[in-house]
Amino acid sequence: MISLKVPRQIPLGSRKFKIGRADLRDDGLNGSISYHQRMMIKIDKSVNQTQRQISLWHEILHGINYVWKMDISEADIGRLAEGLNQVMQDGFRIELDWSDIPKVK
Ligand SMILES: [Zn+2]
Repeated sequence: MISLKVPRQIPLGSRKFKIGRADLRDDGLNGSISYHQRMMIKIDKSVNQTQRQISLWHEILHGINYVWKMDISEADIGRLAEGLNQVMQDGFRIELDWSDIPKVK
């Protein structure tokens, strides 16, 4: 596997979204994205590596959907994230390294 560091922030259009690991279990989420104020993608810190990667692609796809004013449904975002992760993980053999990503509230 090729280890690839998750960047602390990701540009989408003219915006930059910070990435953080958080405890989202109480909200019943594996990930979240906020488009206003903090512009932040949070990924639950307790889920396994594969689920964490899928969640990151999922939230990035939500960001792309928002910034470029697309109209992708929640279900299709989920399918795209699964497919993208399979290509990256099982095809390119890329495993994301979360060691630079801070824990956030
Ligand atoms: Zn979603």
